[in-house]
Amino acid sequence: MNNELANEIRSKCDIVDIIGERIPLVARGKNYFGVCPFHDDSNPSLCVSREKQIYTCFSCHATGNVFTFLMNYEHIDFKEALHYLGEKVGVDVSGVHIQKKNTKFDAFYDAYSFSLKYFQNNLQSKVGKDARNYLLGRKIDENVIKEFEIGLSLENSDDLTKLLMNKKYDLSVLNQIGLSSDAHDVYNDRIMFPLYDLTGKVVGFSGRIYHDNGQNKYLNTKETPIFKKGQLLYHYHIAREECRQKKSVIVMEGFMDVIRASTIGIRNTVALMGTALTHEQLQLIKRLSNNIILCLDGDDPGVHATLSIGDTLLEEGIEPKVLVLPNPEDPDSFILKYGKEQFTNLLDSAVSFNDFKLRKLKEKVDFRNDEETAKYINQVLLETTKVQDSIRVEIILKKLAKEFDLSYNTLEMRFRELKKPKQKETPVVVTYRKIKKKTKYEKAMEQILYFMLNNDWVISQFEKENFIFPNEESRLLASEIVYFYTTYGYINIPDFYTYVQDKEEVVNFLNDILASSYLESTTKDELFLYFGVIREYSRTQEIKRLTNSLRKEVDPLEQAKIAEKIRKLRIGDNKNGWRN
Ligand code: ATP
Ligand code: MN
Repeated sequence: MNNELANEIRSKCDIVDIIGERIPLVARGKNYFGVCPFHDDSNPSLCVSREKQIYTCFSCHATGNVFTFLMNYEHIDFKEALHYLGEKVGVDVSGVHIQKKNTKFDAFYDAYSFSLKYFQNNLQSKVGKDARNYLLGRKIDENVIKEFEIGLSLENSDDLTKLLMNKKYDLSVLNQIGLSSDAHDVYNDRIMFPLYDLTGKVVGFSGRIYHDNGQNKYLNTKETPIFKKGQLLYHYHIAREECRQKKSVIVMEGFMDVIRASTIGIRNTVALMGTALTHEQLQLIKRLSNNIILCLDGDDPGVHATLSIGDTLLEEGIEPKVLVLPNPEDPDSFILKYGKEQFTNLLDSAVSFNDFKLRKLKEKVDFRNDEETAKYINQVLLETTKVQDSIRVEIILKKLAKEFDLSYNTLEMRFRELKKPKQKETPVVVTYRKIKKKTKYEKAMEQILYFMLNNDWVISQFEKENFIFPNEESRLLASEIVYFYTTYGYINIPDFYTYVQDKEEVVNFLNDILASSYLESTTKDELFLYFGVIREYSRTQEIKRLTNSLRKEVDPLEQAKIAEKIRKLRIGDNKNGWRN
């Protein structure tokens, strides 16, 4: 990959705009501040610098340039971030080849993608006839099968295990990733739906029975480091762009619902896949859009889940909408039965969550009973205290007054009483990441490196002095800085960031430095003071080391040599000193 192109694209866009499109930013002084999306917080601890074109979170210490922001925020890889920005600023990146970063899970991904093709082939072959008929019976045609990469595992077969073992996979790995169990295929005679991670890579399967054989309807791949159900949402990688265009996200229960919706052109959907909504999933959904439409099953468990998810979202400050399906339909069965138009109608008439909740409250009340009626009215008032919009509050109260022939004032008084005892807002406590206290020499080292990133003359000075840091990570970072500078003839932090992004140790250390507050520029005299601190440290370390070896040395001649070295170091003569 050529860095020049990445740097050109980066220099043509402004990190403040790109982040600002996703998170509200407020200008303060030279910088912009917003709520950091990389940890759980409601304080504006994310600082975005227009001048430096980097962002830094003072709380969780997430740092980087516009590429790293997009990669982490959108869960995309470098290539996708480059394409996205390239398109935005009008730089053609279609010909760019980026070498894939190797990870320790490559073997997992490869095994899943091999299995995916194997399952797909099965479904298209002669043995797949029954399964294909089942799918056709459910109105899942060839196009859908292709789009969602649906396949089939074979009856009484251990072929997949054998094939993968021929490809030199260890049985232990195949067990670990849930494809085999004791040398047998885990999946037997099931229709195979691949499950994707947030970037669209296959990380597991859900196998569905297609004739009644008394087994569990769905069998999911077990959890692995790359497949954690609670951290994923089915269809997220597709929904990302769709939600941006449609400015809303529709949350469904099952992937069949998502698949069905896509057949009528609705693709801003994600599925929870049968889990209770986790905190991570909630954050992911919020990231897709603030306009959330809950479209769960129309049966009792579905209503129950809607109420519970809605409440969770309310606590997060978002009031979702609810698409109410008739009991017992789910989106899949509803669309099949009533078609696209009726579903779109329901979608357009989705009610706000509070209205939905009030409606549900009402269903259970016997209004001939005064006590129950009063209890109901009180409950409505209590729920209404959660409504932010004061106009809506008034509408609800007026309706209630009319419906039960009560005076508006009585209701309003009661409403205020209920609203009052809301406990005082407890101040939000920000937990700062524990930072190891740095020694004087560590601080000096990091300060010098920060100078080098901001002033190219410091790099030249650093080289001229033949200056060497006494610890590995600083030496590594220094040599990368020097390399970048000699290769490109300039230095700035965001481009340097792009250049080192795959070198994990360097990035970690760089993040550490960027998240601390160091001076940006210096004079030559000051710089030499910092150099002096490092020299002094290196010298005392070397004396310590030599004194140790002197203690262990038995040969008197060697002892004398070492003693001489120590003496010279002590008087500050570096000729035979530590750099030797
Ligand atoms: P279908 O229409 O094929 O019966 P569905 O979407 O109606 O499927 P539900 O029973 O509503 O399925 O379940 C919703 C989701 O919960 C499924 O997509 C699946 O991910 C998950 N699920 C359901 N049953 C199981 C199970 N036995 N094991 C694991 N996951 C399951
Ligand atoms: Mn269903």
